[in-house]
Amino acid sequence: MQILRAESLLARNTLRLQSNARALVEVSSAPELADALDWARAEGLAVLPLGAGSNVVLAGDVDALVLVQRDGEMQVLDDAVNRVDLRVSAGHDWHALVRRTLDHGFYGLENLALIPGTVGAAPIQNIGAYGIELDRFVRTVHAWDIATGETLALSKDECGFGYRDSVFKGDLRDQVVITAVDLRLSRQASPELSYPALQQELEQQRVNDPQPEDVYRAVVDVRSRRLPDPAVEPNAGSFFKNPVVALPQAEILRRAHPELPTYPQADGRLKIPAAWLIDQTGWKGQRRGGVGVHPGHALVLVNYASESGAELLELADEIAASVQQRFGIALEIEPRVYGRRDA
Ligand code: FAD
Ligand code: NAP
Repeated sequence: MQILRAESLLARNTLRLQSNARALVEVSSAPELADALDWARAEGLAVLPLGAGSNVVLAGDVDALVLVQRDGEMQVLDDAVNRVDLRVSAGHDWHALVRRTLDHGFYGLENLALIPGTVGAAPIQNIGAYGIELDRFVRTVHAWDIATGETLALSKDECGFGYRDSVFKGDLRDQVVITAVDLRLSRQASPELSYPALQQELEQQRVNDPQPEDVYRAVVDVRSRRLPDPAVEPNAGSFFKNPVVALPQAEILRRAHPELPTYPQADGRLKIPAAWLIDQTGWKGQRRGGVGVHPGHALVLVNYASESGAELLELADEIAASVQQRFGIALEIEPRVYGRRDA
């Protein structure tokens, strides 16, 4: 185990923001993880688990031991007629897992293809896309308590999953390192086709009776067209969460804006696409210095030529203020911000 001091995180976040970690370590085994946590405790340093850095805004230097897990195992725990139980290590690349499970005839994850990042980060915001969220498949999340080094096995219920939310953003925020996730997938194809953009893509591709492989391909194709590649235009995906409002507020908004798109939630509230709100305030395609709003997707902020997260957060604040003024809705940033006081 090698502890690197004052290590640059520039190549470790998809927004390509410059930030130095006080220390950084890559671990590939449980004993190495234990040593790393012991070291941080002895140094009095906080621990920041980092995956692919696709959902973080580094707005300054990080005064912590940044911990990167390299273990990328997929273990079959139980293989039955209808279903298969898997244990996947935190360091496994998410999209590679989607591809790998399909290759084995393990179905369910196809709608979540091409989401950047690691398996260990997937439960943090309960990743979701095209009508599916991770929690549908989670059985157990394995983690280590950063303060004590104790191991935890959290059931799905204990994970408190919600829309882009979990206990890891709440009570357990900054408390644990997720080391593995147990998933239950299906041995029988049962594609989830409810999401309109996915249906349209399958129709355009003239796919009748879509199979999981077709869904995977359609998701990969539509995402590749619609979303900027962070390797070319550095970004963190959706910069704001879609706000969810109560019915009376939605009705008032609809009277003022009859074209307002809304999607009913299980709890009776309505989800409003943040991209629509931002588009309406005229921000799509706008630039401010080295940062801007992608011309093809109003929810994606792009770092064109900035090294500092501060410029990006100023732009985010301006956008949120416009939306607040026009619609009375407070937008919330989706990625986790590090390196500034209110992070
Ligand atoms: P990181 O950015 O490295 O970390 C994110 C947070 O999780 C940090 O707070 C970090 O400390 C914590 N964390 C990471 N690993 C661990 C661990 N092992 N234990 C404890 N805490 C940990 N998200 C979606 O939900 N749906 C999408 O469709 C989607 N599309 C995207 C498209 C693009 C182009 C991009 C850039 C991002 C997209 N995202 C999407 C966001 C992002 O891909 C996910 O949130 C992903 O799960 C982040 O994984 P990561 O490994 O990069 O996490
Ligand atoms: P889109 O299809 O243009 O839709 C815009 C928004 O409307 C989405 O955010 C989606 O909410 C919502 N929506 C559309 N149809 C819906 C339906 N039938 N029921 C409920 N909600 C509906 O979205 P997009 O930007 O191209 O993204 C496609 C998918 O990938 C979405 O699921 C999106 O969440 C996901 N994605 C996420 C990120 C991220 O960083 N979090 C980045 C890129 C893409 P939902 O977001 O709740 O689905």
